[in-house]
Amino acid sequence: MAIRVGLVSLGCSKNLVDSERMLYKLKAHGYKLVTEPGEADIAVVNTCGFIQSAKEEAIETIMELAALKADGTLKKIILTGCLTERYKEEAADLIEEADAVVGITDQKDIVDILDKVLANERYVNFAPKMEAPLTGKRIISTLPFFAYLKIAEGCSNCCSYCAIPQIRGPYRSVPMEDVLKEANWMAENGVTEIIVIAQDTTRYGCDLYGESRLPELLRKLCAIEKLHWVRVLYCYPERITDELLDVMAEEEKMVPYLDIPIQHCDDDILKAMNRQSSEAELRELIAKIRTRIPDITIRTTLITGFPGETKEQFNRLGDFVQDMQFDRLGCFPYSEEEGTKAALMEDQVEESERSHRAEIIMQQQTDVSLAKNEAKIGTRLEAVIEGYDKYAGCYFGRTKADAPDIDGKIFIKSDNRLKLGQYITVEVFDTMDYDLIAEEAEA
Ligand code: SF4
Repeated sequence: MAIRVGLVSLGCSKNLVDSERMLYKLKAHGYKLVTEPGEADIAVVNTCGFIQSAKEEAIETIMELAALKADGTLKKIILTGCLTERYKEEAADLIEEADAVVGITDQKDIVDILDKVLANERYVNFAPKMEAPLTGKRIISTLPFFAYLKIAEGCSNCCSYCAIPQIRGPYRSVPMEDVLKEANWMAENGVTEIIVIAQDTTRYGCDLYGESRLPELLRKLCAIEKLHWVRVLYCYPERITDELLDVMAEEEKMVPYLDIPIQHCDDDILKAMNRQSSEAELRELIAKIRTRIPDITIRTTLITGFPGETKEQFNRLGDFVQDMQFDRLGCFPYSEEEGTKAALMEDQVEESERSHRAEIIMQQQTDVSLAKNEAKIGTRLEAVIEGYDKYAGCYFGRTKADAPDIDGKIFIKSDNRLKLGQYITVEVFDTMDYDLIAEEAEA
């Protein structure tokens, strides 16, 4: 009987792509893939480890699996991903319940690692980061009609609070021919929405070709006939060029959606974060984007409680959020991460105060989001069907303004039998804080 493997993928969409590559290797080698670790013989955990809350979630997950192993349900536990890559031997020593603790590069050898633990060898290894393969066949684990396209590994922006460069290494773009080959494979296998990701998508090509090639790549993705929507996430403000905005304005398949983590608006805080923009430049950029693409949805991410952040600087951030009226916003309390420059800074803000400030910003944003949603009542939008909610008695899905997992949903009433991944026109008639309610529009 085939050995059953359950893979738990924690953290971000970039980690999910890595998990999908491991799934492909495991299935190709005859392992039976199961979704619930409790049904598995071997659990593989692709961990996240860049901030405290993510580390806690990873440890919690590992302890749950350790309990399954202790009662004999699970036989082996294999750990990989950002937590093990970051803490290496320390993680291996601390987490005795694990049968293998390996780095990110070692994921390419996941089948050999399973052979070792099945031979009752405890395996610990951390192969060099720069040897991590940038491409690989994968099993798409998201809904079948959309998939993440990872165009680079690592990051070289070195924001002072961020541990990712030390975990993932410097920025390495995937050669464009390989990216396009993967995108065509996706389109030939039922994917109609491609979501372009990296730590910083706007830096794509700078290392390989000496300049950003994201606009060119997006145009080539839009030329793939079977694709319907192309979405890009994780854009770095300073590298949003007129050329990129032209592509977004001119290419019909490009959804008018920009995810631009800016982290803060105060010039001194931005400088201490090693971010390259000023408040004035950020305001100018947002205005320029909205002029060039009037129906754009702008998502951003902010950090509150960065070392030294005064009440005045925090109030300035609140005013900025009110002025900018972002469509989508995530705000996180600063996380003091060892090995980062910010962790060594003086004037660390109390943890409770960091969280309190984030809650204030998110409360403010709830009002902004509700007002923006109310303004959509009576409008017609294109939506893609993601499922049927039998309790609500209606379908649900996303519009161009909703990225998977991080944004709201649209609930859709229809008398027709709709299919997963079907694109339809809807008319909005009501709203909730973050979600919309609509009915299928007559043709
Ligand atoms: S851009 Fe900054 S915050 Fe984002 S991954 Fe790179 S270093 Fe971290």
